[in-house]
Amino acid sequence: MSPAPGLDRPWREYVGFVPLAAFEDARDAEAVLWLDIDNTLYSQVETRIPELMADRIRDYFRGLGLSEKDAEELHTHYYKEYGLAIRGLVKHHTIDPMDYDEKCDGSLPLEQVLRPDAALRALLERIDRRRMRVYALTNAYKTHAQRVLKLLELDTLVQGVVYCDYNLQDFSCKPEATFYRAAEAAVHTPPGMPTYFVDDSMSNILAARALGWEWCVFFDELHPTDAPHTQPNGVVRVSSLLQLPRVWPRVFS
Ligand SMILES: [Mg+2]
Repeated sequence: MSPAPGLDRPWREYVGFVPLAAFEDARDAEAVLWLDIDNTLYSQVETRIPELMADRIRDYFRGLGLSEKDAEELHTHYYKEYGLAIRGLVKHHTIDPMDYDEKCDGSLPLEQVLRPDAALRALLERIDRRRMRVYALTNAYKTHAQRVLKLLELDTLVQGVVYCDYNLQDFSCKPEATFYRAAEAAVHTPPGMPTYFVDDSMSNILAARALGWEWCVFFDELHPTDAPHTQPNGVVRVSSLLQLPRVWPRVFS
């Protein structure tokens, strides 16, 4: 099979994909909606998951024999250089990515902090699945992604997950163009299909827009607004996912 547009190799060499219960590919859809998972489908303020995650990653770096200061610096450096700490670890240290995943994301007390959000479920239920496909697009590994979606009771409303496959030699992640292109290929998105995307990272949003994902929204719960707000760079910002119908009226019936 020849690689998809924008990719040198088959998509499976860049990303992982897991279909969920209601999976259908995007071949005969009218549009696709991609949802980031972490800190987008739940509140980072209420759950404090980013802090819990950062503590575990730092502990992992320290476990490699690094001092507190070096661990901190290297974590920040790898995050900036590779988009994800684990990519730097895989490239420059001999680590088992599955051990990393188990000790970092796998040990998060998600059962204690994540609760289904009835309003968010109701919102996603309003999407006409005959016209649209709804998938998750995450920089986490599939174990964590599926665990979060299940705890939020969104695993029946999200139709599949494109994730970072830590087992691959040179896996891709957001905001690399190859990650988005491989995601499109994984669900058979026809060229030029209208694409919606919401993420709590501005760099992920800007990268998607640069590739032609026209309907991108930046989710920023840290700066509450009453209504969607267009930023100077043209990106629409919301502080609650419940504001999305005002930005994307065609998505929600
Ligand atoms: Mg996120």
